[in-house]
Amino acid sequence: MKDEFEFINRIKPNKTHQPTLIEGIGDDAALIRPESGYDDILCVDTMVENIHFNRKTMTPYQIGYKALAVNMSDIAAMGGQPKFYLVSIAIPNGWTETELDDIYRGMSELAESYEMDLIGGDTVSTSGPLTISVTAHGRVKQDRKLLRRNAKPGDVLFLTGPVGLSAAGLSILLEEAHSDKPIEELTKAHQLPTPQVKAGLLLSESGYRIALNDVSDGLASEAHEIAEASQVHIVIAEDKLPTIEALSFFDKKNVLDWMLNGGEDFQLIGTVSAEHWISLSNLFEKNGQTIHQIGTVSEGPSKVSLNSKNGLMPIDKKGYNHFT
Ligand code: ADP
Ligand code: MG
Repeated sequence: MKDEFEFINRIKPNKTHQPTLIEGIGDDAALIRPESGYDDILCVDTMVENIHFNRKTMTPYQIGYKALAVNMSDIAAMGGQPKFYLVSIAIPNGWTETELDDIYRGMSELAESYEMDLIGGDTVSTSGPLTISVTAHGRVKQDRKLLRRNAKPGDVLFLTGPVGLSAAGLSILLEEAHSDKPIEELTKAHQLPTPQVKAGLLLSESGYRIALNDVSDGLASEAHEIAEASQVHIVIAEDKLPTIEALSFFDKKNVLDWMLNGGEDFQLIGTVSAEHWISLSNLFEKNGQTIHQIGTVSEGPSKVSLNSKNGLMPIDKKGYNHFT
């Protein structure tokens, strides 16, 4: 990077959307006005080259896009509307200006479709790997937050869309898995994941008691987080897990492992009372969004089980499972 100031000028948005933004990029810090009736949501996620991505599996555009998407997903999992983001980037030698611009283009194109504004960041050089850390801000109506501790026995367990796609896509990109059939949907799920912002907002607006988590680490792990926070037993029904045709081209055992332990699909997993399930799924249908019942919630102690044709089996939080 020749000139940090020239770089900041280049990536500075030439228009912003949010009326609550008082000062964006240019001063010592950004200034935003709080909105009455709302709680602020703040989160941060860091992606490190060769840990979270590498230059073979992701283009610079995709790296930027995903760095913002993972943060938007955390806001969605709180039932929030994303508003602002800041970017801290540590740049090693060897990245061209065009590649850096592409990283920012990946972020800004995703941000644009949700009217999110880039309001600041930090730029440093490093002798280590490229590291990009995005801090996102969102807001949620007061008392409409969707916490992991909200699940109760008797609830329906739901998922907003199929999982396992991103893990399958990564295996394909790393050339560990192969198929001659069309599998672009899988690689795209890994490279350009869609944060489920609209689904999160619908869940929040429904007014129902809802426990919610986004699938960043894998279905098993996220279900465990809800089970632990709510002290309940979560039962996932294997035959109810939504899937897509592209997954059917791979070995069934691999697919189940990708689904349960893969992660990075950024669908939302949650629970709602059985009484409200039908009207919640109707609300989703009316708004052109998908939601699937994938299991049930019963009395604790906290654990997660998989109900398959072999019966009920406990599943671990990560990696290893009992049925392979
Ligand atoms: P300071 O020395 O006060 O921290 P900087 O020169 O680091 O100021 O930043 C100047 C402005 O540019 C600030 O508004 C900062 O938030 C913004 N900024 C710096 N680096 C980035 C970046 N990588 N992405 C977005 N905004 C940035
Ligand atoms: Mg600074």
